[in-house]
Amino acid sequence: MHKIAVAGTGYVGLVAGVCFAEMGHNVVCVDIDVKKVKLMESGTSPIYEKDLEELMQKNYNAGRLQYTTDYTSAYQDADAIFIGVGTPEQSDGSADLSYIATVARQIAESIEKDCLVVVKSTVPVGTNDKVEQFIHDFLVNDVRVEVASNPEFLAQGSAVHDTLHAERIIIGTESEWAEDILMKIYEPFDLPIVSVNRRSAEMIKYASNDFLALKISYMNDIANLCELVGANIQDVAKGMSFDERIGSKFLNAGIGFGGSCFPKDTKALEHIASQHGYELRTVKAAIDVNKDQKTMLYKKARNRLITFSGLKVAVLGLTFKPGTDDLREAASLENVPLLLEQGADIYAYDPVGADNFAKVFPEGLNEKGNITYVDHIEDALKDANVCFIFTEWGEVKAVTPVTYKELMKTPLVYDGRNIYSVSDMKDVGVEYHSIGRESAT
Ligand code: NAD
Repeated sequence: MHKIAVAGTGYVGLVAGVCFAEMGHNVVCVDIDVKKVKLMESGTSPIYEKDLEELMQKNYNAGRLQYTTDYTSAYQDADAIFIGVGTPEQSDGSADLSYIATVARQIAESIEKDCLVVVKSTVPVGTNDKVEQFIHDFLVNDVRVEVASNPEFLAQGSAVHDTLHAERIIIGTESEWAEDILMKIYEPFDLPIVSVNRRSAEMIKYASNDFLALKISYMNDIANLCELVGANIQDVAKGMSFDERIGSKFLNAGIGFGGSCFPKDTKALEHIASQHGYELRTVKAAIDVNKDQKTMLYKKARNRLITFSGLKVAVLGLTFKPGTDDLREAASLENVPLLLEQGADIYAYDPVGADNFAKVFPEGLNEKGNITYVDHIEDALKDANVCFIFTEWGEVKAVTPVTYKELMKTPLVYDGRNIYSVSDMKDVGVEYHSIGRESAT
């Protein structure tokens, strides 16, 4: 078993650290955020992910998992250090590598024995070469250190499951020594491993994410056309899904992709291409379609209602997808300010994301509008003039069509996730607009 340090305890770092411990490795998770480290030591997860807290407590109690802000002690005698810090988007679309650079320098100044540094964060092609050079430039002790790429493919909402049962592990190395260490670390997971060079590994991550983003935008584009020609996107997707070359996943049209990965990874790859004088037209199209898609329903509703001023607007779902408390690039963040600017009186419900959302839009007066956070969907719907569905939480899906009819002042629903059947809404007298399907009026 290996002594592993993990830098960064976000969705990627913490889940990786906990899963390495679950597989029997000795793990110490490092973060600069003192509050986070204290929280984790008390057995509480700073992020919401199914099964994560239980595994944190189990492995902490078994003595295989520790948390610290003291990176020197964590890195000095580690066999491998995994980097899982953020690589956020900069204003020109490129990835901000400053967090990676800070960790690289901390590693160079701390390690006292031979060590493999593994970059899990999503980074532009060629970054691993630079990180290795950077570490060598600042290295204090005479030890062997190499950098390997091990991009992460987990999806928020199912991060623990995705790590323990990953469809594949990608490792990118430049020496047998590095490949051997990573192979051994992943041996207990018993999963398929694809071993390539570092640059190919870095590219596999972007190419995979951007392909999925493209698939979503393609379906959204087709959905918009379906509305114009009188076809039904769900029937179209069903028909497509039987073709094994297409597959059945990621065919759901909706209000556009969000989260911390697809939006930034599409822009980053487009930026990488442009730096090399190449226009990546397919990915650019995905970005453009997604931008328009996010406010599609708002625009439809504004045309229908003229103004939102003084209207009670129910907003169901704030996070970018169900199963996570993450708001990054969520459709709600685009639409709520537009509604508030127009003077809407918003009643917002989200089972786990409301506290984070309230940090951006505090309860009460915002712009010309007002926002109130409610614990029960019924309180959002009661006497509402219009309802927007932004996230397909199970709690939202459980609301029956007749509930909208009974509770709302005017039963008018804009559903960005296509969770209801149009005919069910029509039957109970709800005016219902969704994506890529006829409306019930
Ligand atoms: P995050 O923002 O949730 O977490 C990053 C953490 O790193 C924070 O807790 C921060 O305090 C910590 N940190 C910053 N500097 C540090 C330092 N010097 N030492 C130790 N800790 C430090 O990020 P995330 O969502 O986990 O993403 C991390 C990377 O993984 C990104 O490159 C992202 O693109 C990639 N990725 C994310 C996902 C996902 O679903 N979130 C999936 C695959 C890949």
